[in-house]
Amino acid sequence: MKRAGLVLALIFVMGAVFTAMSPGSAQAKTVFVTIGTGGITGVYYPTGGAICKMINDKRDTYGIRCTVEATGGSVFNINAVLAGDLEFGIAQSDRQYQAVKGEAEWKDKGPQKDLRAVFSLHPEAVTLVAAEDAGIKTIADLKGKRVNIGNPGSGQLQNSIDVLESFGINWEKDIKAEQAKAAEAPGLLQDGRIDAFFYTVGHPSGAIKEATAGHRKVRFVPIDGPPVEALVKKYPYYAKAMIPIAMYEGAANKENVPTVGVKATFVTSAKTPDDVVYAIVKEIFDNLDAFKTLHPAYEVLTTSSMLEGLSAPFHPGAEKYFKEKGLLK
Ligand code: GLU
Repeated sequence: MKRAGLVLALIFVMGAVFTAMSPGSAQAKTVFVTIGTGGITGVYYPTGGAICKMINDKRDTYGIRCTVEATGGSVFNINAVLAGDLEFGIAQSDRQYQAVKGEAEWKDKGPQKDLRAVFSLHPEAVTLVAAEDAGIKTIADLKGKRVNIGNPGSGQLQNSIDVLESFGINWEKDIKAEQAKAAEAPGLLQDGRIDAFFYTVGHPSGAIKEATAGHRKVRFVPIDGPPVEALVKKYPYYAKAMIPIAMYEGAANKENVPTVGVKATFVTSAKTPDDVVYAIVKEIFDNLDAFKTLHPAYEVLTTSSMLEGLSAPFHPGAEKYFKEKGLLK
């Protein structure tokens, strides 16, 4: 009995040694992560691509294989991350806030306790593009028009509703609301099937370039004045913003266009392993200058601004890095 026990123990120890040495061990195993983004002509999609590129370039160091998925946007991404269908997602700061508090699309489900913040990204502007021939110069002119307010699952859907409501426009009664995806909106506008569309997006974006470069002349409609003052006061996540007109040569406007904005944020679930989150944060923050060259919308990013605009608790993997770097106390 004694000897049998010894042999068994030996086998166990040797097995452990072999497992540790083999290439298939925990150390050498590749971890697969997918980032939920948005439509391919938005800024989330290239942002997911930029994060994945930096991580995948150092595959030997991190053992992470990162891929990107085009999705319906913020709300879809948050829900997919919480359901465990995606490891990471990009989501508007206002939608992160609402998920954490159990508001808007999460009203019935309640506060989403497993949502974790990783960092924030580029600013996004609530962008309203309208056809010149539709005679839409102000929000009030939208009455009776066919307007794309955003697909279910997108960030912009609620932003469009908030903006319209702040101007006393009922989206169900006063306009002909469409809920098409942002990637389809420029084509619908150019084809004369809609008069205007809302898109909450960083600038420049492929979708807005497409909308402003077609044969049908379009203009950005300013979102400003007393209703916007009230909107910014009412909701903590809206701030005033500007659409830089120089990025869109084809637009009818010649000056920067005032609007409201939020921030893009990078989120995950409490269930994502700390070392995976730590590796991604470290790669992006240690090489922020290189990251910033990957899209013009990242120009304003700094390591400290990227910790702002977040409502969910930091993921422990992100927190560890931020504390090491003194970015967080
Ligand atoms: N803000 C949009 C959303 O949450 C996506 C913008 C983008 O894809 O860049 O749905």
